[in-house]
This record gives sequence, C-alpha cells and structure tokens, in this order.
Amino acid sequence: VKKVKKIAIVGGTHGNEKTGAWLVRKLMKAPGSVQRKGFETILRISNAKAVEKCVRYIEEDLNRRFNPAELADPGKNSYEALLAKELNEELGPKGAEKPAVDFILDLHTTTSNMGVTAILDSRDELAWQAAAYLQAHDPNVRIFTWKGDTGESDFVHSIAPAGFALEVGPIPQGVLRADIFEKTERAVQHILDFFEKLNAGTLEKSDAELEVYDSVTLLDFPRDEEGEIAGMVHPELQDQDYKLLKKGDPLFITLEGETIPYDQEEPLHAVFVNEAAYYEKGFAMSLSRKVRKPLP
Ligand SMILES: [Zn+2]
Repeated sequence: VKKVKKIAIVGGTHGNEKTGAWLVRKLMKAPGSVQRKGFETILRISNAKAVEKCVRYIEEDLNRRFNPAELADPGKNSYEALLAKELNEELGPKGAEKPAVDFILDLHTTTSNMGVTAILDSRDELAWQAAAYLQAHDPNVRIFTWKGDTGESDFVHSIAPAGFALEVGPIPQGVLRADIFEKTERAVQHILDFFEKLNAGTLEKSDAELEVYDSVTLLDFPRDEEGEIAGMVHPELQDQDYKLLKKGDPLFITLEGETIPYDQEEPLHAVFVNEAAYYEKGFAMSLSRKVRKPLP
C-alpha cells in the first residue's frame, strides 16, 4: 500500500448526528491530538449549517451528493449540492490523479444498536487495510459493506481515493452521549495510528481474511393501502442489530399486535434496525450476509 500525505477527518455530514461534529470541534481545539509523524490531518465539519440547526440536512442528504454527474451539473444547486461541490474542490476533486487528500474518514452515528461499524463501499486496498487495523485493535468493530441505497458510491468519502464512513450507535439524533463519543474518538485515534505505522513501514501483519457483513437488501416496514407504516420493528428484534434472522423469526408487529415473521429462506443478519434516518427513505432495516473475505 502506498504512503499517505494528507487525510481528512470529517464530522457533521448529517447535522443531527452531533458526535462527529463535536469530536471534530474538540480535535480542532487540540490539534496536537491528531498530529502524527509523516502525514497531515485535516479536520472538517462538512455541513456546519445543518449542525447549527440540528437537522440531518438543509435541503437534501449531503451524503448522497457526490455522484460525478451531479457534481458536474451546474443545474444542481440545492444547498447540499453546492456544499458538495465546495467539499469536492477542497478535499478532492473526486477521481483526480492528485486529489487534495488521500483518505477521508466520515463520522456518523446511528439510532440502531450497531456499536462501531465501518461502512466499506469499495474494494480499495487502503480503506480495507485501515478497517482491518481498526478491527484488530478493537474486536468489537464490525465491517459492513454497502453500496448505498442508490447503488453508487455517492458518499462524502468518495471524493478521496480511499475512505469509509464510521457508524456508531445506538444514540438518538440530536444527542451527545459520552460513551458513544469516546468510542468514536478511540476509533479515530486507531485510524491515525494506522496511517502513522503505514507510512513508517511498521504495520503489524493483519489477518488475511476479515469477517464482513455484506449488504443484501433493504427492507421496508409493512404498509397499509395508503402507504402509511402499519407495523413496527418487533420488540424481539429491536436493538438486536447483527442478529441472524431465520425463517419464522418475529420481524414486525402490526399496530394491532399481529406478528409478521421473517419469511425468506436464507437466514440473513439484520443491520440498521429501526434507524431513524431511514423512515424518510422507506427502510426499516438492512439485511446482510456474513462472509469471510480476503483483504484486497
Ligand atoms: Zn449519518
């Protein structure tokens, strides 16, 4: 893996996920804490206005605005579309031969009980090595691969040649919790250590294979004829992220109290269970397949 010169730690991509934004603020006040030999770390609050208002976004989801066609479209001028173009100039540009940064870690939180999860969306070697390092130093870290709900990598970190999003939960939107903050901060420090060791050539040999949750599909809530949500995540599944669902297991419970079971033949793991931000997207959870994958 080649050495890095500059990386970026980004928070506040979703303005109501306070943890990343407040961690970036803390680190900005103590720049020594992100200083490592051999590379520079840029700290950035990506959607400061949304953070100030404590909303996910002003007009549309910033974390889906980095599609190359959209970045190049002068007609795309929502608040977040313009912000995406600005970030792309500053940290990218996306796909450039010599982008401003080599790696972006984008800090998110989830209302789901997912612990610390690295969301990988490419087979980029650097991102996988970093995620493997993170897991080796904190066995509770899980790795989830996902192309996003659009099937493309339109995420903030996609403007750099490598990177990933970190999801830490459970935490309500708009809330700071010391335990979630500390878990996120620890992960950031591990990632900085990884790059320092990578540049110095002192990386420990990591396992050749990783346990990975591969996203299979997104599942919507049960709905009535008007399209309104007609059921909730079943209490036996609530907070049980990464649980293996087998045919017949309780999945939803209707408002009238009727249990709707999981009906697929293949057992799959439930992730992002009842994530608050997915209500507007029409998802109740993601289903994933646990596999072992070699490092790229
Ligand atoms: Zn987020």
